[in-house]
Amino acid sequence: MPLVEVKDLSYRYPDGVVALAHVSFNIDEGECVALVGPNGAGKSTLLWHLNGLLPDHGRHGHRGHNSHTASVRIAGMDVTHEHLPLVRRAVGLLFQDPDDQLFGTSVREDVAFGPVNLGLDAAEIRQRVQESLAVVGLSDAAERVPHHLSVGERKRACLAGVIACRPQLLALDEPTANLDPRARRQFMRLLTDLSCAKLVASHDLEMILDICPRVIVLDEGRICVDGPTNEILRDEALLEAHGLELPPSLRGR
Ligand code: ADP
Repeated sequence: MPLVEVKDLSYRYPDGVVALAHVSFNIDEGECVALVGPNGAGKSTLLWHLNGLLPDHGRHGHRGHNSHTASVRIAGMDVTHEHLPLVRRAVGLLFQDPDDQLFGTSVREDVAFGPVNLGLDAAEIRQRVQESLAVVGLSDAAERVPHHLSVGERKRACLAGVIACRPQLLALDEPTANLDPRARRQFMRLLTDLSCAKLVASHDLEMILDICPRVIVLDEGRICVDGPTNEILRDEALLEAHGLELPPSLRGR
């Protein structure tokens, strides 16, 4: 059974904007998949669907009729209101802006937020917080105020909070945005070392070449291609047609 099964998913915002149209794909346990496409392609909307951040009544079939064939399943569970607690346990979402995710008075408190919500006991919470901070290299920053950290550190603090819940899928929105080269490489290494499945929405095609063997190209809410990164990110005409460019390391080859 695939970890993620999205079948014929269409989504319309309340103002009528159709953000996703007939999207279908699967992700297996442990797979690392990139999601690319121009601004407004529907990448964030798709990530939000995976942990039920969007109401399922916005889903619709062709021409706006309710679709009985559309489904989003995580680890065999339909992403519907009744399964939300279990779905959110399985899917960790990392927002683009760390300030949307950090609101505690210390890094420790922020990282503990997810495990506390899972209802774990105090000893387990303490252990998970310690482990996650060690994984992201922030053990020494546990008592610091999140908003005093650098962007790279804040991003890693958010990641620690997400992995402390031990998700099966990590959904990441622009994980390398606003990071300097060293922080970017550090974050990429962290992602590579995590064994859970990942869906990475990003414009950083160089990063995608490095860490995601498979890429899905989304444009105007539709999947245009889904296949090996090595082929798709070398196809200049295809990239250009969808508002993307060859990654610098592949230019002039
Ligand atoms: P991406 O992440 O690829 O930039 P989004 O998922 O943010 O794309 O947006 C997809 C489409 O949905 C765009 O046309 C965008 O304007 C629209 N959209 C996004 N969020 C909302 C919202 N809250 N209300 C109405 N339309 C939205």
